[in-house]
Amino acid sequence: MTTTKDLKEEYKVVIIGSGCAGYTAALYAARANLEPIAFEGIEPGGQLSLTTLVENFPGFPEGVMGPELMDTMKKQAERFGAKFVFGEVTSVDLSKRPFSVIAGEIALKAETLIIASGASAKLLGIESERRLIGHGVSTCATCDGFFFKDKELVVVGGGDSAMEEGTFLTKFASKVNIVHRRDKLRASKIMQDRAFKNEKMNFIWNSAVQEILGTKEGGVTGVKIRNLNTGEIWEKECQGVFVAIGHTPNTRIFEGQVELDEKGYVVTKGNTSFTSVPGVFAAGDVHDTRYRQAITAAGSGCKAAMDAEKFLEEHELD
Ligand code: NAP
Repeated sequence: MTTTKDLKEEYKVVIIGSGCAGYTAALYAARANLEPIAFEGIEPGGQLSLTTLVENFPGFPEGVMGPELMDTMKKQAERFGAKFVFGEVTSVDLSKRPFSVIAGEIALKAETLIIASGASAKLLGIESERRLIGHGVSTCATCDGFFFKDKELVVVGGGDSAMEEGTFLTKFASKVNIVHRRDKLRASKIMQDRAFKNEKMNFIWNSAVQEILGTKEGGVTGVKIRNLNTGEIWEKECQGVFVAIGHTPNTRIFEGQVELDEKGYVVTKGNTSFTSVPGVFAAGDVHDTRYRQAITAAGSGCKAAMDAEKFLEEHELD
């Protein structure tokens, strides 16, 4: 583990983020002798470190556990000299090169910057959700599923995340109710089939969770569900609520400095990782609104490191 006193004042490549994109960028930059440093954020390993079995990352015929995959990616980058720092980058100044990067007490300069800060779980935005998060309301089945043995749960969402989380939760829960706002799932066919076949899964269509019932002390006791077609509101007993309605990109610190799209994702140019700022590159979910897969994130981390290497060759700093 790199400590503050081991840090240099300036780096050729600084990476913000530590998911598949950040680790792969670190691996490629390290193998190009660029001695990269990566800020891992407060969730090292990114989204895969919060998941269970990953079955679609090539090279693992039986699947691989997400946290294990991330750990081995990090070790592979470290073997070639990449350094990792735990902690969140709090601000950047991209107005001139070398760029400034500040993470709490750490301040350093970056000749090039790779943004691989990923995306975070979205919330419903209701008061009871905020109040009960960590007390029966969760966005991470892998982290919290274990606490709901033989309990009845509600999972909100209709995408792959909701199906994956819901299916995983049936390992512990007595029943998992998927509450979805439409009458069709957005999830991929294979995930839908798996969920529909699971006897512990129940689907509540055209519905929204209007309120989560319970207290911090006693946990969740139920939800108020509104039928979006009829307006009817009814109560469903449950002991936990998992919100799985997608993610928002972690780009707040780049606002006004790098071009973002209307949803806040970093805009990249053509088939490259170039952003609107020369010397700043983006990789992974922070710029990908279309594929958002572990393997595409890894691929884009590779592209960003190669783009940074080429940029450094062409723009030597005096
Ligand atoms: P997503 O595909 O954007 O799905 C989000 C779901 O939540 C949608 O069904 C959406 O409803 C619903 N939703 C959004 N905002 C809501 C709100 N405020 N209230 C209620 N419901 C709301 O997100 P995701 O499931 O996280 O998946 C993101 C990407 O990661 C996808 O490309 C997915 O394929 C991928 N992924 C893959 C795997 C895997 O292959 N193992 C696992 C997880 C995710 P609508 O359908 O009405 O829009």
